[in-house]
Amino acid sequence: MYLTHLECSRCGRGHPADQPQNLCECGAPLLARYDLAAVAAAVTPERFTLRPADLWRYRELLPVADPRHVTTLGEGWTPLLRTPAYGARIGIPDLIVKDEGLTPTGSFKARGAAVGVSRARELGVERIAMPTNGNAGAAWATYAARAGLGATIAMPLSAPTICRRECLAAGADLRLVDGLIGDAGRHVAELVAAGGVFDAGTLREPYRLEGKKTMGYEIVEQLGWQVPDVIIYPTGGGVGLIGIHKALHELRELGWVEDRLPRLVAVQSTGCAPIVRAFAAGEDRARPWADAYTVAFGITVPAPLGDELILAALRDSSGTAVAVDDAEILADLRDFAAVEGLLLCPEGAACLTAARHLRAGGWIRADERVVVLNTGAGLKYPETIDVSTVPVV
Ligand SMILES: *Cc1c(COP(=O)(O)O)cnc(C)c1O
Ligand SMILES: [Zn+2]
Repeated sequence: MYLTHLECSRCGRGHPADQPQNLCECGAPLLARYDLAAVAAAVTPERFTLRPADLWRYRELLPVADPRHVTTLGEGWTPLLRTPAYGARIGIPDLIVKDEGLTPTGSFKARGAAVGVSRARELGVERIAMPTNGNAGAAWATYAARAGLGATIAMPLSAPTICRRECLAAGADLRLVDGLIGDAGRHVAELVAAGGVFDAGTLREPYRLEGKKTMGYEIVEQLGWQVPDVIIYPTGGGVGLIGIHKALHELRELGWVEDRLPRLVAVQSTGCAPIVRAFAAGEDRARPWADAYTVAFGITVPAPLGDELILAALRDSSGTAVAVDDAEILADLRDFAAVEGLLLCPEGAACLTAARHLRAGGWIRADERVVVLNTGAGLKYPETIDVSTVPVV
């Protein structure tokens, strides 16, 4: 294994990686660091092509030492789908969707869960606990079951019921909270303080990020080790965006890609846009968003712990942050399905709305290659399509 240590994303302090870790003393998330020079000496990009089509193909850049600790359901290596018909409509002919809907548990949260659970098991954790908007809890409950770990999952009553069912099916201890993800977080904090459970909440342990960063490696490898011009990501806790940014920097340091970074775009809903507001105001931190609500449930995160990292990634990549409204998200979801045949999750559809607006405003040029993340399966959100008006013949 090439993992060397954990580094605080704010104060830079080093922490040992051979025991379970949460936040730094200064309150910021820890980042996994590797001996990249040794990785570059051990493996070349061409080797990956010969490996199985899952995220473990990048094992030198992942934090699991013993292959027997890998807990997998085949996650990763999702398709990059060209969508020229819809792309032509919105003036971006080279529009590509990375379809994470095909991931086990129906969302890209499985990437973080696979790596996070594998490493937790390797470090001797017996029970994980986390607050969730649904998909992360479902994924972690599922992978925990497979790894033989216990899982306590706290989620808002308003989270998609399919995610509740997934947690129960996987034998998790499910707690329903009458509130938002922050209220679920307070419940988990009490459990963690009482002892006996490992806090696996968003960015509170360092390895979920490592799983999600593999989306960045895959985009680049699937494009023939080329970076696209723009990557558009629906941002809640921001782990995927921070992860893709980390992956791109690692690939640059390895010398496997050119120096140019894709411009990263954080998409939020007008009903919950703390990152968009902070980005527009030129701030380094985001203030909590009051009365958050959006159909894109996965991005309803009023106070993301990784706000500093998200904002830094946007600025470092000359990216931007865009808020889109629910009615447009649902309309674009339908238009896209009718033209390309793929039913997106509302979070993925929000990225199309953002792409459309950014193209119309000239921020995206007609000749640019744009990758949109569809972070989950449309089938998990059947209520996005209203069938009540269909006549019975
Ligand atoms: C969790 C989630 C997101 C947001 O992911 P973050 O990494 O928390 O920003 C987007 N889409 C879906 C479907 C999700 O479940
Ligand atoms: Zn610190």
